[in-house]
Amino acid sequence: MLFFPRLFVLAPQVIETFGTPPRTVTVPLFIWITRGEGYVQNCALNLFGLAKTTTLNTRVSALDMSEARVMEVLDGENETGLPLLVSKGVYAEASLDISALRVPEGRTGLARVTVDALVDGRCVRTRLRIPYRASRLPKEPGWYGGDCHTHSSWSPDVWLIPLSGRARYAWENGFGFLIMSDHSSGVSDWAGPDGYVAQCDRAQQETGIPILPALEVEARDGGHYLCYSLKPTSAQHPTDGQYPCRDLVKAVSRHDFPLSYGMIAHPFAARSPWGDWSAYGFAGLELMNRQRTANRTTVQAWFGLLRTNLPHTVATGEFVAAIGGSDSHNFMQPGSRGFTWAYIPDYSAPDRSKVWEAIRRGQTSVSGAKDLAYFTVDGQMQGSVLRRGPGEPLQFHFRYLPVTGRRCTQITLMDKNLKKVFETVRPPGSELRWTMPPSDRDPEDTFYVAAFTFREGKGDVSEVWTNPVFVSSRV
Ligand SMILES: [Zn+2]
Repeated sequence: MLFFPRLFVLAPQVIETFGTPPRTVTVPLFIWITRGEGYVQNCALNLFGLAKTTTLNTRVSALDMSEARVMEVLDGENETGLPLLVSKGVYAEASLDISALRVPEGRTGLARVTVDALVDGRCVRTRLRIPYRASRLPKEPGWYGGDCHTHSSWSPDVWLIPLSGRARYAWENGFGFLIMSDHSSGVSDWAGPDGYVAQCDRAQQETGIPILPALEVEARDGGHYLCYSLKPTSAQHPTDGQYPCRDLVKAVSRHDFPLSYGMIAHPFAARSPWGDWSAYGFAGLELMNRQRTANRTTVQAWFGLLRTNLPHTVATGEFVAAIGGSDSHNFMQPGSRGFTWAYIPDYSAPDRSKVWEAIRRGQTSVSGAKDLAYFTVDGQMQGSVLRRGPGEPLQFHFRYLPVTGRRCTQITLMDKNLKKVFETVRPPGSELRWTMPPSDRDPEDTFYVAAFTFREGKGDVSEVWTNPVFVSSRV
């Protein structure tokens, strides 16, 4: 029987950069064959007349797996297939520095990827064409965007993506911070001279933006917990399977009391939902995880927690804050499908504590596609508790700043019962003011959350969910 060897190459469907001007364009590739034995010789990337070839010279052997299943494994949805992928296929990154071209915002092009291999004595070449766009993150004084949930090759289910590469991507794409949250089972060395914290320190020095070390820890009774602001010099840290949810929350709070805290990762995700809602003391939850829009179950649960804790919030200012994260594994880049904008008016790049504090205090918006949106009440930012007598009106100010090519199509303001109290479609410009008359005011303590919808063209819907502003009528 005669057959021609085929070289399979998987790449993202669209390539986008967010820095201005764009620096490095990187295309992650997974290369495999379904028959025979071979060598992948090189991959090349060509864009705007510039080209770069990367030498790979890596062995490849037959992998019996469908393209859909390969994608599932690379995305971190299915970890069991990873050893097979690692042993048979090739992961590579085709990258090209286009900074010299000073490509203007919004410019599009076609990135051409070429992969050359030798399979069973034949030269084989596969070509891909991938649309590229030079996009830009919105800019707004005091606001810094970042990813609250990112993995690197410290995680057992991530392949060949060093922490420094994640950090460089974040910096090149205009992020103000990046939280590294590798699985605790892979972080064998937290505080050592070349440990996790030290690598974050180095990445932070190289990029000039806060690269914050954190851990994702699995509870014994199910669920993943993002452990933030842990003691950087501690020899011990919570690990997978060590504690049930309740004790894990406490162990994190104790780790560097009162600075350390935790957030429930993907609380209702099919792959690992939170195991025990009687646990208390967590600082927040991931409202968007690998999502462009929030799951309604998660939104309802979050509002329920905010309502339950309302008396405590009005007294102390503490509440269950929402964050967004990409949970990026192999193929995904930080910030794709899950992003967090933080309001940090006194941001200073080397100071991680400002970022940790803004996230804990809920001075943040959760964004599916990096669009920035937020609101204030009587000039007070999200995360605030206002005291206004029942006879006073409330002045709402909404701001909405999309990523290149997108626009805000809807603003919905909700009260504590998820009831819409204000809604508008296709708001003009980038800001809107609205006054709630005293007659519409809730006589009880309440809070407001705004949800913004963004679109590109007719499709590609994404959302921004703000953290609440609390309003108490008891002055
Ligand atoms: Zn994760």
